[in-house]
Amino acid sequence: MRRVLGPITAVVLLVAPLAGGVQDAHADLNDVAKALGASTVKSIQYTGTGGVNAAGQSVVPGLPWPEYNVKSHTRSVNYETASLRDEQVRTQALDPARSGGLQPIRGEQRLNLLVSGDVAWNIVGDQSASAPIALADRQFQLWATPQGVVKAAMARNATMQGRTIAFAVPGRFNLKATVSDDNLIARVEGLVPNPVVGDMPVVIDYWDYRDFGGVKFPTRIRETTGGYPTLDLLVTDVRPNAPVDIQVPDAVRQDPNPYARVTTQKAADGVWYLTGGTHHSVAIEMKDHVIVVEAPLNDERSAAIIAETRKLVPSKPIRYVINSHHHFDHAGGLRAFVAEGVTVITQDVNRAYLAQVLGAPATVRPDVQARSGRQPVVEGVAERRTLTDGTRVVEIYRIQGIMHHDGMLMVYLPKEKLLSQADAYTPVPPNTAPPMPPSPFNFALADNIARLKLDVGDLLPLHGRLVPVAELYRAIGKTP
Ligand SMILES: [Zn+2]
Repeated sequence: MRRVLGPITAVVLLVAPLAGGVQDAHADLNDVAKALGASTVKSIQYTGTGGVNAAGQSVVPGLPWPEYNVKSHTRSVNYETASLRDEQVRTQALDPARSGGLQPIRGEQRLNLLVSGDVAWNIVGDQSASAPIALADRQFQLWATPQGVVKAAMARNATMQGRTIAFAVPGRFNLKATVSDDNLIARVEGLVPNPVVGDMPVVIDYWDYRDFGGVKFPTRIRETTGGYPTLDLLVTDVRPNAPVDIQVPDAVRQDPNPYARVTTQKAADGVWYLTGGTHHSVAIEMKDHVIVVEAPLNDERSAAIIAETRKLVPSKPIRYVINSHHHFDHAGGLRAFVAEGVTVITQDVNRAYLAQVLGAPATVRPDVQARSGRQPVVEGVAERRTLTDGTRVVEIYRIQGIMHHDGMLMVYLPKEKLLSQADAYTPVPPNTAPPMPPSPFNFALADNIARLKLDVGDLLPLHGRLVPVAELYRAIGKTP
């Protein structure tokens, strides 16, 4: 008996401590799932306060994104339906309101940002609007929540290597998570496709985990996008398995590709106002080429603008695209123009930045520019530049003294008395009272029109609608 038992005991003694050691040194995804309580979580809702920043809306390239106070931020996630809703109540943080992102906020601004499956949309007031440009980032946000990381990794059969979990959702995002010693998600690093910069790095840090009914969740969340802060949240309430029912509204489902739609309005002979849901462009026919003012949003929008321009002027190439300023919603279509060999004209403060990012790789979701391999040609304008073919004159001016952005260009056609600008003045819908008090940016535009002695008939705003310049003066309660 002894002879038989002896070796068995020895084997058990030999194996037991080793097995324990192996487990500690090589915790796997299941250990992380267990520590987070991930398998019991089908949905989660958390609320916090702090600060949020509008990525892509800095006053010049290379400065931090503008900050807002977040009175409340409630994120609701349903992992089973791949849905997320962020409800934010924001107030103005910067004084004065310098830079972009719907500033200045008066009182409280309520935002609802949603994604479900492959549909992203926003709700402002009671209006739902498709937001395809936000899709990749919102899907990343959904799966970058601590429990989301584990669920997405398991669904993709990803494994933990050391303290790292890494996986990719092709065409959507790449994600790398760092696991702490107590098997919680400490940091998530993502690479998300961005229409302006190609690949956008997003880093989220989670700490001060607490237990909420058997589920561990961080009470501190900090995020950077492109190296600058975008979120700093103190989480005050977490509700695992809260009911989260997010349905794509009919209005959004019926309009999945709003950027592909272009409505053309002739503003003068050879000048067309090319409008879409939110962001517009202008096409100007010259003797042997075409100038486009503004390439907003993304590749899809630019493909539609380029196609429409070619339909209007089939025999002439687009030579220039004039960029009003570098804000991401206004510059997101530039890469597609660069891919076509079109020269970008921007204000000097944006020149080096655009020259760099418009040539940057887009590895997560290769766009037309990444596939073209073209070197961007970006020309800067200091205060003014005139483009002429001897017949038509196109004058480009910097808008001075506007707090929205330090390097904004507007485009003036003296013969046609047309002026196009972005974000300095956006007309309200017809039969609507302009906001009171008016935006300080409206006054800056009126001051620049006066300074340059421009004789303006109609405005071709890059948001809003074509209006006589009198609408601007009505908005600010002034006569020219
Ligand atoms: Zn802007």
